[in-house]
Amino acid sequence: MMKASKKKESTNSGSLDDDPDASREESEICPGFKDADAFVKYGLGAVISATKASAGLPVAGDEYDFYRSFPGFQEFCESQGDKLLHCMSQIMQHHGCRSHIRDRNKLTGLEERFDLVVDSNDVILERAGILLDEADGVNRSQNPVMPAGFQPPKIVVSSWNRKGSSSGSRSETFRLLHAKNVARPQLKFKEKVDNSNTPFVPKIFIKPNALKPLPTYFSNKQIRKERPEDLDVPAALADFIHQQRTQEHVDDMFAHPYQYELDHLTIPERLLSKPEPQMYKPMAETKLSFIDSLEDLVALNEKLCRLSEFAVDLEHHSYRSFLGITCLMQISTREEDFIIDTLELRSEMHILNEAFTDPTIVKVFHGADSDIEWLQRDFGLYVVNLFDTHQASRALNMARHSLDHLLKNFCNVNSDKRYQLADWRIRPLPEEMIEYARADTHYLLYIYDCMRAQLLESNHGQPGLLQCVWNKSKDVSFKKYMKPIFTEESYLELQRKQKRSFNTQQLTTFRLLYAWRDKLARQEDESTGYVLPTHMMIKISEEMPKEPQGIIACCNPVPPLVRQQVNELHLLVQQGREMPLLKAEVAAQKKKGLTTIKKAEVPLFGPHDTSRGSESSHPQLIADEVPVKQGILFSEEDYKMDVDEQKISSLLAPAKITLFQELETPAGQKSLSVAQMKARSITESFENPFRMYLPSTGAHVNKNAKFDPSSKIFEISKRWKLQSAEQQQKEMEVKKKSKEDAKQKAKKLSEERTKAKQSYQESLRNIVPVRQQATDSKDGGRKKARGGSEVGEMTPKPSKKLMKSAEKSQKTEPPSEETFKPFDYAQSDLKVFDGSKAKDNTQFDPNRQAQDFRKKKRPQGQKNNFSSGNRSMSYMKGKSDRGFRHAWPKR
Ligand code: AMP
Ligand code: MN
Ligand code: ZN
Repeated sequence: MMKASKKKESTNSGSLDDDPDASREESEICPGFKDADAFVKYGLGAVISATKASAGLPVAGDEYDFYRSFPGFQEFCESQGDKLLHCMSQIMQHHGCRSHIRDRNKLTGLEERFDLVVDSNDVILERAGILLDEADGVNRSQNPVMPAGFQPPKIVVSSWNRKGSSSGSRSETFRLLHAKNVARPQLKFKEKVDNSNTPFVPKIFIKPNALKPLPTYFSNKQIRKERPEDLDVPAALADFIHQQRTQEHVDDMFAHPYQYELDHLTIPERLLSKPEPQMYKPMAETKLSFIDSLEDLVALNEKLCRLSEFAVDLEHHSYRSFLGITCLMQISTREEDFIIDTLELRSEMHILNEAFTDPTIVKVFHGADSDIEWLQRDFGLYVVNLFDTHQASRALNMARHSLDHLLKNFCNVNSDKRYQLADWRIRPLPEEMIEYARADTHYLLYIYDCMRAQLLESNHGQPGLLQCVWNKSKDVSFKKYMKPIFTEESYLELQRKQKRSFNTQQLTTFRLLYAWRDKLARQEDESTGYVLPTHMMIKISEEMPKEPQGIIACCNPVPPLVRQQVNELHLLVQQGREMPLLKAEVAAQKKKGLTTIKKAEVPLFGPHDTSRGSESSHPQLIADEVPVKQGILFSEEDYKMDVDEQKISSLLAPAKITLFQELETPAGQKSLSVAQMKARSITESFENPFRMYLPSTGAHVNKNAKFDPSSKIFEISKRWKLQSAEQQQKEMEVKKKSKEDAKQKAKKLSEERTKAKQSYQESLRNIVPVRQQATDSKDGGRKKARGGSEVGEMTPKPSKKLMKSAEKSQKTEPPSEETFKPFDYAQSDLKVFDGSKAKDNTQFDPNRQAQDFRKKKRPQGQKNNFSSGNRSMSYMKGKSDRGFRHAWPKR
């Protein structure tokens, strides 16, 4: 068994080259076996015989006790047991799992040990899952898929809003983190992305083919210009202003701009009768145009307007953007193929509405659900008269509903799936990717013909089934894009989906991490999966590492922003730890043989976890936590207490990141020479770019940040502190169930609400000058490229002048009555954070609005997607971010 595990190690670590066996027989995947199958067979055989043998052991109870009375049996059992445990422990250690040492003391019950095994199994299985996914071609590592030999442009772009702050060591750090990046297309967008936590408002401002005119809200540029994201104000205030301004327009704003036209769309007779399928032109003989100028786009629109049908598809990127970006549009007519660079023409794409909303022109898509949303979100494009071949495939009950199946079935074309998850932001687009994208629409009109014919055929010539597909397609075009909205409950939705049970501390940690992730993702315009994948967030919440390095150890690979902000994250985890546990949870802890305090002191053991070696673990080392000999997991034998302190401390010598270790304060400071002292002071004046990765010794957390009211740590921590205080109070109330208390609380809350209202009003008054400045500066205002990276600056600055003055008031000057005050969360209405509904809540609640809107008429089968804080970017089967919203039509 030991041999087997050794073998496993060498294969897992991928160190075949170091293995003499392997280098001798290079073709072997698993040393000693001719192929993976042979290894699996052998492994399975071993497992089966082990299972059989264990089933043959005397069972617990009388039989076992009887056998145990023979010393030979007892000895054998113990030695075998030790061997097994040693082996398990080695496997667990190999996978960087918490395995032994302190868990071996008497206090650690069987349950706790069992948990350890379960945890390790989870880790190992997850790793296996990742490797299988990778082998399966699912790109978990998120390296863009590139055609062979293609070199991505070596452009180094750090975080988008940090661009330009290329001062010394900082930019070095970013180069390290982002060297693999493709240029961020967002940087070129004329209209900046609106990641604010406000519902999506349609981008449309001209409505071609209207039967009902566009509501004034959309055509009135003045109102639209004053969207809150154009103001440099705190998010909460922006929400409030937004609400005030838009109240009277709410109905218009959230209705589908082409609702009326779609309602009145009838499919003409000619489209319900049997067509003669028109064969597609061979790809080689078809003209392909790459459209990346407005002129060409206008010409294309004119061409399309003269047709009776065309096929459309989009390619999209979602990993390095919060909302996602449509990168490409493919259009095929019967004669020609077009590829539109939608990154280049993003702001001009809307002109295609003329053709897209023309009810006499059929737009053929395959699986248009997301396309419809992306068109609205990025371009303000709508589709009137859609035929979705995916819907047709369903109605025809085809074996599979993917486009590649249709291609195979109707055109005998084998499509190449390789680029499905390619990074479509790459420019210039490699030939292979263009060809791939083109094939998505090239055959679609022919397929559309064939499917219509089949739909009629299979229904004995009656149009019922075909009509049904037209209706289903119309339902798809009714879809409205919904922005992911962060609410105080979003994290619970995600937690529920993950089916994990957390105690109060873990849940608090999870909630804080969720809020951090959402905020950072919006601010940096990254997907939440890029900022911190959900499975890592869960791991951190479960482990609640004591040290920042423990957080790093929970992540593999460590996301760049986690590395950068590990100290902020650590603060959040600490806050989680500070939460009082519920009585039942404390009892559960005790049952496991650990008091809460002790539990909190068991540091995380991870492969990179240096925390257990940090200075703080030494004083905590109590007598019965003496480390014992390596490799034994659960031995029952009493360990000896003669291990001297020296040995312990040598065992626990702090692990160091030697490369980046900061200078330690030497014991003999005095003994330094003058030159040495000078050198030291010079060294100390440098800022180590790797500070953030170092152990917390020397407190590299920006302490001021904690108390600086403009900082995000302050904001988050303050907010959740309030909440935790409130929760404590709630728990006490539940205990007492005294009406008086409840009354008092209500009174207090209403006082706080009044206060919050006042503060809103006050801040609103204060904001007027800022707004004024915004308007003033618009006249001579050249738009400034994004500068700093402070919180609340995710929105574009209207002008240099405004930015400077805002900076002045926010940062340099102490907050006074006249100057702008950052929103004070302490004054906030606490009810916002609890589950109950605040009655006359003046605070803008996007979810509430969204819910109202949700009640309105929606096409059937459309799921709400308000939970979309969750966007795991690892495309696991059925787990992709988009997967939450609808099943992907497989290609
Ligand atoms: P398609 O309509 O198949 O060309 O896909 C359009 C876009 O959807 C692609 O560019 C991908 O960004 C995305 N996509 C397609 N299939 C998947 C999938 N299985 N998981 C996640 N994203 C996908
Ligand atoms: Mn598509
Ligand atoms: Zn496509």
